[in-house]
This record gives sequence, structure tokens and C-alpha cells, in this order.
Amino acid sequence: MPDKRILLVDDDPDIVSVLSRFLNRQGYTVVSAASGREALERFHSQTFPIVILDLKLPDIPGLELLPRLKEQAPDTEVILFTGLGGLESAVQALRLGAYDYIVKSELRLPDLQAVVNRALERRRLSRANRELVEHLRQAREELAARRKAELAQIRRIGEALAQPLAPEQLTAGLLNLIWESLPLAILGLTLQNRETSESWGGERRQPDLAPEVYGAFQRWFRDTLAQVGREENPDGVSGAVPESPVWPLPAMLWKAIRVEGMSGLAAAGRQEPFTPEEAELFRIFLLQGEAALKNLLLFEEVKSLAVRDGLTGLYNYRYFWEMLNQQVEQSRRYGWPLSLLFLDIDDFKKVNDTLGHPQGDLVLQALARYLGTQVRQADLLCRYGGEEFVILLPQSRVEQALILAERLRDGIATTPFPLADREVHITVSIGVAGLAPGMDGTALVKAADTALYHAKRSGRNQVSGVVELFGQEAPRDRVTLLPESRKRGRRGRLGGQDS
Ligand code: GH3
Ligand code: MG
Ligand code: MG
Repeated sequence: MPDKRILLVDDDPDIVSVLSRFLNRQGYTVVSAASGREALERFHSQTFPIVILDLKLPDIPGLELLPRLKEQAPDTEVILFTGLGGLESAVQALRLGAYDYIVKSELRLPDLQAVVNRALERRRLSRANRELVEHLRQAREELAARRKAELAQIRRIGEALAQPLAPEQLTAGLLNLIWESLPLAILGLTLQNRETSESWGGERRQPDLAPEVYGAFQRWFRDTLAQVGREENPDGVSGAVPESPVWPLPAMLWKAIRVEGMSGLAAAGRQEPFTPEEAELFRIFLLQGEAALKNLLLFEEVKSLAVRDGLTGLYNYRYFWEMLNQQVEQSRRYGWPLSLLFLDIDDFKKVNDTLGHPQGDLVLQALARYLGTQVRQADLLCRYGGEEFVILLPQSRVEQALILAERLRDGIATTPFPLADREVHITVSIGVAGLAPGMDGTALVKAADTALYHAKRSGRNQVSGVVELFGQEAPRDRVTLLPESRKRGRRGRLGGQDS
């Protein structure tokens, strides 16, 4: 119900009485004040939507009173009474925010009623307008707050995924972030290495998700993931059942993940349609995930460049020493055996001289590949430099190392390496040493190198070993023991020329 109270400020009791009666009849409640001070008092205890104000009051001039009333209640509409001679002040009063003026001598009651009604209407409109503005302001603030929260979320993803992680940490982190940020019924994320077929990822789902929906989601996810693998782009969004790829999950968001050598898929589903902001957030999560994955791969590549030899792809000299020291440390601590093979191509200079350096490179690569097929996962195969290779055998005793060395020597001597237009025969000499008490990494390398030197001196295409403890089983031909270990008299019997 509209507020129909009017404060009538006039020092003329006749006017007050006539107007009050009239306005009361029209349904208004009129409170009167005979002076400016009285008006302020009344206004102080309660404001009025309408004030009818005589510009000429005995105490406070109307032009002074008006701003004070407006200050207390900016909403109040003030209608002025003025004499004919007061028109100038009336105009000034309008500038100060009065709604309208009425010349006293021309006053007609119906006109007064019309002005009051218009003033009330204007008040209603300006209030509605202010509410609207306030509403807009709130909406803008909410939007800004939401944007801020979204940005914070995006920053959080950025931070969470910024450090180079392993792919399994990356997918787990992404899965968590999305699941925590969007209300979902189900979320799936899988990342695959297309070359190695390794895969990472997982899924989240609400416990009350119906099994048939879950089954449908899984089937669709598998098929779509295969599409990504075939370089198709299945990204999409659906908000209703007929268009949803997973009946009966109406709302779905899905996006392919594709980064050099890797492909994957993320998909989220629920009953309620996704807002554009949610869809955008999902997309941003995955774009950030892709960026993190790129970083990760780059980091791996750089890491690998630092530890790999450029020609053969084997671990390099620097990495060998790092691992050697670690392994020596572990062997000491746990009493594990540790053996080392030092392998050098015989007369490699001749290969270079006759075939040329580039062909020599190919031989080195072929030998590296061959060695790679012969050692176990736990063994550390490195290019020590030039045409020299080392193989560190953790938890292997020297007699096992000698057997491997002899197998390698024999394999290389009897298997020619195919190059583009010819086959190349090479032989290698191998020195073998096992970690003995008191030895450090340098001493182990030195022992193996000494054994290698001995093998070379004994005619090449030989295996020679420094043996601390040697078992009964004798390796086959062409394995010699170094005089040093013979002196200790703790070696076992050796086959071939040594026996
Ligand atoms: P030995 O049987 O005594 O080991 O004789 P060798 O000729 O193999 O040994 P030497 O140490 O005298 O020569 C090694 C050769 O290996 C010399 C060098 O040009 C060659 N070499 C070293 N690194 C590379 C490489 O990266 N590519 C090629 N093509 N040759 C290399
Ligand atoms: Mg050589
Ligand atoms: Mg050499």
C-alpha cells in the first residue's frame, strides 16, 4: 500500500484547515506544521513521502528548509506554495530539488490533488529506478566476485600444475581440481602415451550413480578415447538427452587432450545443464593441463638430454659417474655385490679409416642398440666416451658379470652389424671388475680399466676380469684373470687359455 502521509507546512491556519480537510477526504493523512522549526521537529521523528511547503514562513525561510528536509530524506517530494511575487524563489527551489510549485492565489484543489499524485508517482518510479540500479550493482558485484573466484581457481590450477610432475601426478591433480570445482555426477580422465601405450588417469563418480549410466559412460569414454588416438577431434558439450552421447546423462562436457606423443580425454557428466561459465572453466582446466603436460615432456626431454649421449642415446659419462657413486654407496650399506664391465671396440680406428667416420658412427649406434638388447632393466649401460662403453651391474657378482661379458664378446664377434650397404665385423675387449671391500667408484673403474688393458694386451677380442670371489662355473674361452687377483689366490678356475 502506498504511503499517503503528507506534511503540510504553512503558517496560515485557514489554508491548513481547508487543505487538510480536502486531502483527508482524498485518502491522505495530513500532519501540519505552522513553522519551519515545527516542520523539522515533525520530520525528525518521521519522514514523509510528500511535503507541501510554504516558501514564506515566520521563522526559517522555505529555501533554507528545503535542503534540510531533502538531506534527511532524499526520497521526499516537496511541493511549494508561493505567492505570485515569489516565482523567482520558486524556480530556485526547483533547482534545489523541489518537485513543483503552486501559486497560492491560483490554487485549485483538483490541481493540488493532481500534483500530489504525480509527485507520489515520481517517487515510486525513482524508488523503483534506484532499486533497479542497486540490483544491477549487486549483480555486477556478484559477477565480479564470481570472476575473482574463477580466476583464483585458475591460478590454483596453474600453481598446482606448474611444477613438472610425473604424468600420474598430473592426471590425479587435474582430476581432483575438476571434481572439486564443478558439481558432477561422473568425471573421467585418461592420458595415454601413444608410443609406449602407457596410460594414466582415473575417474570420480557420485556413489548414487546408477550402474547402467556408469556402464554407458565407460563404453562411450573408451570409444571416444580411441577417436582421439586416431587424431579425430571429438570435443563437445551437451545439455539434453537427445544430444547427449551418454544416454541417460543429459549434460556432458568432453575434451580431447593432445600433446606430442600423448593423447587423452576428459569427460564430465550430470543431470543439470552446464552453464557457459562451467563449460569454460572445464575447458580452461584442460588447457592448463595440456600446458603442464607440455612442460613436463619438455622437462623430461631436457633432463634426458643432460644424461643421454647424443649419438647412441645411451646414458652419458656424467650420468654414469653419478649412478656409480650411488650404487657403490648402496652396495656398501646393504652388502650387495656390484660389478662393472668396461668395453672397448678393437681397432676401431681402422673402421673409421676404411669406412669413414660417418660409418663409424653407425657402427657405434648399432653396437649400442645391440648392447641394449643384451642387458637387464636394472643394468646401467653407458657410453663412457669414444668407442668405450661401460655396463654397471647392480646386485651382480663378478662371476655373473664375467658370464655376461663373455656372452657379449662372443655375440659381437660372431654377429656382423648390418649397415646400409655392407656388414661390419667388429670385436670388442672387455674388462670386468667387482666391488671389493674398501673400493670406491674410482677404484672400481680403475680395476675394470686395468682388466681391459690386460685383455687388449692379450690379443684383443678377450674378456679379462679382476675376481674377488669366483664360483665353480667357469666361463668359456677367452676369459682371463688378472695377475693381481691370481696373486690373492682366491679365484676359481677359468676356462680357456687360463686353465
Ligand atoms: P684398440 O683396439 O686399442 O682400442 O684400438 P682403437 O683403434 O679402437 O683405439 P684408439 O683409442 O686408438 O682409437 C679409438 C678411435 O675411435 C679413434 C677415434 O677416432 C674413434 N672414435 C672415437 N669416438 C668416435 C665417434 O664418436 N665416432 C667415430 N666414428 N669414431 C670415434
Ligand atoms: Mg678401441
Ligand atoms: Mg678406446
